[in-house]
Amino acid sequence: MKAGVFRGERDVRVEEVADPVLRDPDDAIVRIVRSSVCGSDLWPYRGHAPWQPGWRTGHELTGIVEEVGDAVEHVRPGDLVVSAFAWSCGTCEFCRAGLQTSCVRSTYPGGADNDGGQGELVRLPMVDGSVWKVPDGTPEDRLDAVHLLSDVLLTGYHAAKLAGVGEPGIDGEPVRTAVVVGDGAVGLSAVVSAKLLGATTIVAAGHHAERLELAAQLGATVTTDLRGDELHRHLLDLTDGGAAAVMECVGTAGAVATAVEVARPGGTVSMVGVPRFVDEWPMGTFFSKNVAFRAGVAPVRAYMDEVGPAVASGELDVSAIASHRFTLDELPDAYAAMDERRCIKAIVVPE
Ligand SMILES: [Zn+2]
Ligand SMILES: [Zn+2]
Repeated sequence: MKAGVFRGERDVRVEEVADPVLRDPDDAIVRIVRSSVCGSDLWPYRGHAPWQPGWRTGHELTGIVEEVGDAVEHVRPGDLVVSAFAWSCGTCEFCRAGLQTSCVRSTYPGGADNDGGQGELVRLPMVDGSVWKVPDGTPEDRLDAVHLLSDVLLTGYHAAKLAGVGEPGIDGEPVRTAVVVGDGAVGLSAVVSAKLLGATTIVAAGHHAERLELAAQLGATVTTDLRGDELHRHLLDLTDGGAAAVMECVGTAGAVATAVEVARPGGTVSMVGVPRFVDEWPMGTFFSKNVAFRAGVAPVRAYMDEVGPAVASGELDVSAIASHRFTLDELPDAYAAMDERRCIKAIVVPE
């Protein structure tokens, strides 16, 4: 089969590799129908993560089950499934609590040991605990949107959950004012999610006019492309002194500093991107404003049952986030397009 292989900085290739075979009784073999390039794929691509040549690429995948091991109970050949970007057993203490990214057997697609999402086939371990079955009859043209459940959409949802959108704030009333810092795929997903969880004032802050326009379509009530102190002042004005929920969807020191500056005293800042270059921590501001900080790798499997049906039915239309399509052979172009910010999300469709 063909699969994406990391060969070095800014060098991801599509190569011929061995077809996967069942290894453990809880494995499945899945034929991939949708994959994608993620913002976090760009860290190794740009040489900022310790990756080795030969490692397999991609952690986001949707596909059709071809074969299952003897111990698989809930998934059958022919099922169309979305895989969580982190694989999990579904039965340990953390999986049962909805924190599948802390599964005691947790492992990720791609890298040194596993097939990646960017390929034709994948050996998918612990399939019962790692995938969500797409409802029968979901139209083909909704697959790009459904595939976003594998990571970005539900990572944005996690940002909104961690920030406490819709939960009681310090006055006991549900938090309805949210600020999203960042206009990438996760930031846009956080906007959608804040709306879903009941926010009525949603401010999206970013630097790309066309993405902010999309943020407005997806539920942002205000958008802004200001920077630095001007941005802080504007956001504090808009929120009458700060937002109770602030979602940091960039993953840099500057974005964290902005997030806590514009948080309301007693509010919460959440962060869901893989942190890089966050070495300066605005501890004094967190301290003086009693702002809570919650961060973490999203347990997307936990949210699939909650959000998936509305995406599959089209009731929640997030297809605009899946902005560009590439074939598997065009994978190097898909990486370049993401790297150069020419697209919000590169969807990869094997032939
Ligand atoms: Zn991802
Ligand atoms: Zn587990």
